[in-house]
Amino acid sequence: MAVFKPENVEDLYDIGDVLGSGHFGQVRQVRERATGTTWAAKFLKIRKNAYSRLGLDRDSVEREVEILQAVQHSNIVTLKDVFESRSEVVLILELISGGELFDFIAEKESLLESEAIEFMKQILEGLGFMHSRNIAHFDLKPENIMLLDKALPHPNIKLIDFGLAHRFVPGEEYRSTSGTPQYIAPEVINNQPLNTAADMWSIGVITYILLSGLSPFQGDTDEETLKNVDAMMYRFDAQHFSMTSSMAKDFIQKLLVKNPCERMTAEESLLHPWIKPITSKQVANRNRSSINIKNFKKFNARRKWKMSYNMVWMCNRLVQLKPFKVKSEPDPLERQCESDVEDTESKPASLIRRRLSSSS
Ligand code: ATP
Repeated sequence: MAVFKPENVEDLYDIGDVLGSGHFGQVRQVRERATGTTWAAKFLKIRKNAYSRLGLDRDSVEREVEILQAVQHSNIVTLKDVFESRSEVVLILELISGGELFDFIAEKESLLESEAIEFMKQILEGLGFMHSRNIAHFDLKPENIMLLDKALPHPNIKLIDFGLAHRFVPGEEYRSTSGTPQYIAPEVINNQPLNTAADMWSIGVITYILLSGLSPFQGDTDEETLKNVDAMMYRFDAQHFSMTSSMAKDFIQKLLVKNPCERMTAEESLLHPWIKPITSKQVANRNRSSINIKNFKKFNARRKWKMSYNMVWMCNRLVQLKPFKVKSEPDPLERQCESDVEDTESKPASLIRRRLSSSS
């Protein structure tokens, strides 16, 4: 079992800027006093008791920690340490300073499929490693695919956020309806037993977006998106996929398969000719085809806009929930507004659990 140290994290680390926020807390850059090394600290609020609506239960944090300890791979964020106080757990993680892969790509003027494949390959290698240990991520989306250092000629991919991840034990049947509508597999929506194949569906969606700048199942509302996923309502629009190789489309088609048993696995994906070409013709095709960068930039700009809109919306809602309060200095509650407000809308609760950082 993971060791949660009782020391106060602030006695050992200088706490720096906010790197990001999630539903249950913030991630901040920290500097270890003893060594001067910088890390990322994920502060997770723990539920006070079984009736409390705010924060996470300790068991789920323990699960996230145990999974992080089990997935030591160059394409997965590393966990260094865990601290615990009465109200929160702090995960000390490797600092990933290169930002999100999608933001990095959106800054480019063009990108060949062969260059995009280098990133896909790293994602699949990280995922394949997890799957080989019977662990599924269950929340793969652009926000959770980061780069260690974007200044390097071949930046290193790091998968983050194992808050929904699950380790399967033999004979166990696991169901969950958590996730993000745009990236969620049909079996998740239908509350069917899950396995690692659900992650491969998300890889299909991410690849589709990466190549075209279109989100295959996106509807006007989350409900419509979920319906489109369930009905497998997607196609390769000729206008947006005009620069895409047929191998890339084949790769996606083998992932966006409704039956999880028939979906390509991570191991199989790494051997697909789009990722691992065998003939010189296949190599040439990948170098001739490129991603639809113009439309991809538009997709990413919309995604970022929606992320900040959701953040402002949540903060405003918290302010509305606390009337008559005259504020002279920043309130710690409001600084952490994302983690302290729960979704109470009538939508399928867990399906929107992670919507804050997503772009549905
Ligand atoms: P969510 O509710 O979106 O699932 P979460 O509470 O589980 O989020 P994370 O997704 O792990 O939290 O982290 C939130 C954000 O913090 C990330 O989107 C990212 O921008 C930033 N972040 C997380 N881990 C790191 C890290 N190791 N290095 C740098 N930034 C990080």
